[in-house]
Amino acid sequence: MSVVQTPWQAGTECVANYDFDGKTDQDLPFTKGEFLTIVAVTKDPNWYKAKNKVGRVGFIPANYVQKREGVKAGTKLSLMPWFHGKITREQAERLLYPPETGLFLVRESTNYPGDYTLCVSCEGKVEHYRIIYKAGKLTIDEEVYFDNLMQLVEHYTNDADGLCTNLMKPKLMEGTVAAQDEFSRSGWALKKSDLQILQTIGKGEFGDVMLGEYKGSKVAVKCIKNDATAQAFVAEALVMTQLRHKNLVQLLGVIVEDKSSLYIVTEFMAKGSLVDYLRSRGRSVLGGECLLQFSLDVSEGMEYLEANNFVHRDLAARNVLVSEDNIAKVSDFGLTKEASAIQDTSKLPVKWTSPEALREKLFSTKSDVWSFGILLWEIYSFGRVPYPRIALREVVPKVERGYKMDAPDGCPPVVYEVMKKCWHLDPTQRPPFRKLREQLQHIKANGLYQ
Ligand code: ADP
Ligand code: MG
Repeated sequence: MSVVQTPWQAGTECVANYDFDGKTDQDLPFTKGEFLTIVAVTKDPNWYKAKNKVGRVGFIPANYVQKREGVKAGTKLSLMPWFHGKITREQAERLLYPPETGLFLVRESTNYPGDYTLCVSCEGKVEHYRIIYKAGKLTIDEEVYFDNLMQLVEHYTNDADGLCTNLMKPKLMEGTVAAQDEFSRSGWALKKSDLQILQTIGKGEFGDVMLGEYKGSKVAVKCIKNDATAQAFVAEALVMTQLRHKNLVQLLGVIVEDKSSLYIVTEFMAKGSLVDYLRSRGRSVLGGECLLQFSLDVSEGMEYLEANNFVHRDLAARNVLVSEDNIAKVSDFGLTKEASAIQDTSKLPVKWTSPEALREKLFSTKSDVWSFGILLWEIYSFGRVPYPRIALREVVPKVERGYKMDAPDGCPPVVYEVMKKCWHLDPTQRPPFRKLREQLQHIKANGLYQ
């Protein structure tokens, strides 16, 4: 499939496009869909030395695998690239010119607000079908009903079912790329048949999180069925393709095969969210060294985001997960952006968000540092809700006047000093994550965590 041009460096991540049995015992056999890491080049540009997920090393043929790369930041990935929003009938007809039977787009209806219109080119003419929105469902013929536009388009792609033709080719919205195509091109599209869903393990705001198995490994799967939400999660997945760090929950891939739902597959974090972990174990189980290690883990993940100019915006103990071997990793990149204004401040977690972010929507690495201070307080109070006994509406005015939470019971003074530095009202006075990480490392190295 892929043509090898410049040699891949050690550390390059690949996904197998075919099965490979191996010809000699120096070869590394693999099956389609497996993840491999390049270890070294060889004299032959068609072969690499690679490592599989259990650490076995051997030779692999380059043309059996595809390099996985980050999807370019700013790419407008769309699950509905044929959706053109509010355009007129005439604009739609111009977009579907020159005529090509089966070329289609969907627009918002101008005559019937809330409804949509499916415009299809058919033997030189454009037909406009009204899509009626009725009691949460969409229909053209009032016989077949759909939950969302993606399902509707899928149906009429497979079968004309009364239309002049079946849908054959989407007229793409200018500037957008079909999410499916882009995830395949960059090596992040997984096949649904390789994934087994086992059980529900968590409830997300927008859908369940499930335990699954992919090629023999346990994975976590977020499944999003609603189209508008799915579109938001495409953005989350796009961000995740660009991130790789031991303290960030790793994206394994995305499934968009099934047009009406989106699956985001990540590494499985056996011990669940950090806040639940702290609450359920408590003081009697978790010692100072363990708390400090969680703090350090998170600071390292955040240092990586800082160095790569990513702002998380929703850093909190509920969004940190704990692996089987007790490593804390930052997750939930739903709000992570490369700096652009957030639309709706009413949904922000007030107790974790810095004053300037709440007031002026000024999100930066420095507002993440503020949240990190709150997260440290959560860790050292074993998962308590911040600002205990203060009514939510009182929090912001108090904080703006310089109020800072007290140290949690038993919190080492050196750690409390770190927290307070994060809560400087002037964001420029807050330390960078690199400094915070150094300070935590110093505390660890000198055993000051008791
Ligand atoms: P949302 O932000 O939409 O509420 P989350 O991504 O925070 O959803 O997930 C909700 C819950 O599902 C988490 O608190 C956690 O218990 C569980 N969960 C999420 N991702 C994983 C994962 N990779 N491994 C294990 N459990 C997970
Ligand atoms: Mg969450």
